[in-house]
Amino acid sequence: MKKAMTISYEVGENLYLNLTNKCPCACTFCIRNHADGAYGSDPLWLEHEPTLDEIIADLNKRKLKKYREVVFCGYGEPTERLDVLLETAAYLRSRENCPRLRINTNGLGDLIHGRSIAKELCYELDTVSISLNAPTEKDYMAVTRPKFDNAFEALQKFTKDCVKAGKAEVIMSVVDVIPPEQIEASRALAEKLGAKLRVREFDD
Ligand code: SF4
Repeated sequence: MKKAMTISYEVGENLYLNLTNKCPCACTFCIRNHADGAYGSDPLWLEHEPTLDEIIADLNKRKLKKYREVVFCGYGEPTERLDVLLETAAYLRSRENCPRLRINTNGLGDLIHGRSIAKELCYELDTVSISLNAPTEKDYMAVTRPKFDNAFEALQKFTKDCVKAGKAEVIMSVVDVIPPEQIEASRALAEKLGAKLRVREFDD
């Protein structure tokens, strides 16, 4: 496993941020299982978790206005570093020409922190994209393999709380490798929770 200090990396028109390698899941399709980076990036395994100062120094080297979105994503679950994430988002919002801010999350931040985090997250971000992965608890647990027994219920509550917070766009996502009937069931569940479904292409 190669390590580096890749704090930000470009994916298409967007800038992705890599704050942590911690994650409570072990998804069967996780890119971390078979690569050290993503979309041609340098290794995303971090030598250490970047401090806020290191993140700001990295962002100051980027021309923010050229990006469509800044996305908290990386090689781990961004809400594992909720405080730094929120401070980074607040810093970005204070900059001129700040693009839209999105998080790609597994939706388990409430379980990681033992409290509801939807409000504070939605206050700072424009889009919250939550990995649903599968429309039933049995399939979700088989694919996502979280360390929490109540993960499926918790991610639904988190989604509803984000919708209720009312500020950010709330999206649930599945990967297009699941059967069409599971995609439709996922759409129905996302819509029941007040979110939109996005079907992502599998990228190996
Ligand atoms: S939640 Fe994301 S980082 Fe964590 S195991 Fe799943 S795909 Fe990988």
